[in-house]
Amino acid sequence: MKSAPLLPDELLSDQKRRRTALAATIIAIVAFSAALSFDWRLKMLAPNGPITLLLGVLVAVFIYLATWQQSVLFRPCPSCGKRTLKSGAFCSHCGRPMQ
Ligand SMILES: [Zn+2]
Repeated sequence: MKSAPLLPDELLSDQKRRRTALAATIIAIVAFSAALSFDWRLKMLAPNGPITLLLGVLVAVFIYLATWQQSVLFRPCPSCGKRTLKSGAFCSHCGRPMQ
């Protein structure tokens, strides 16, 4: 938990780090479900493979949408760096007016 105000550079790298972590998570989930849906012994798609794959993709899409919604509704406050509602007139944490 950071309490000190973030510099613009730090905010940017924080967002970049978040995006990289999200991409890695989604790729890992899809790759894992693809590996599970394949029968490696018979070298063919497992009988319930398509369902496993579909579930993996759905989970990945859900995580992506949840994160996307966060970035659409919230933004980091330029003063305190905490995430606050984009539509709000003031930061809900430090009270700084948002333009
Ligand atoms: Zn603030």
